[in-house]
Amino acid sequence: MDNCIFCKIAAKQIPSSIVYEDEELLAFKDINPAAPVHVLIIPKKHIATLSDADAQDGVLLGKMLALAPKIAKEQRCDVQTGSDGQVSGGYKTLINTGPDGGQEVYHLHVHVIGGPKPWRGQR
Ligand code: AMP
Ligand code: ZN
Repeated sequence: MDNCIFCKIAAKQIPSSIVYEDEELLAFKDINPAAPVHVLIIPKKHIATLSDADAQDGVLLGKMLALAPKIAKEQRCDVQTGSDGQVSGGYKTLINTGPDGGQEVYHLHVHVIGGPKPWRGQR
């Protein structure tokens, strides 16, 4: 898509802070982070919204979701259980869809948001 900022990021036409890349997916830091860790996972191919994903995109969607805990671990915000059984850490995964869903960039992305609180807002 010619006018899509995330397609341009995937094509390396616009710089981004990349934290993960493979043949199908790219993950990079959000330019306006809502929390100490704020990474966006995108498919390299253009899908405008979650509602535009079709049945054949199921595996791709699964890969995007499965990447989230790996990113969280690398960014040191994964959920932890201490030797005393105390659970700490953790992160939020979020897909905004359409205007009423708060979507601003029309290229499918999963937000991975974590790190020590307080965070800005509740996204
Ligand atoms: P959404 O509201 O779910 O569409 O989220 C879009 C996100 O993309 C926002 O959190 C923006 O801060 C982020 N964003 C927009 N442009 C860029 C960019 N060039 N690099 C990194 N993140 C961006
Ligand atoms: Zn795009």
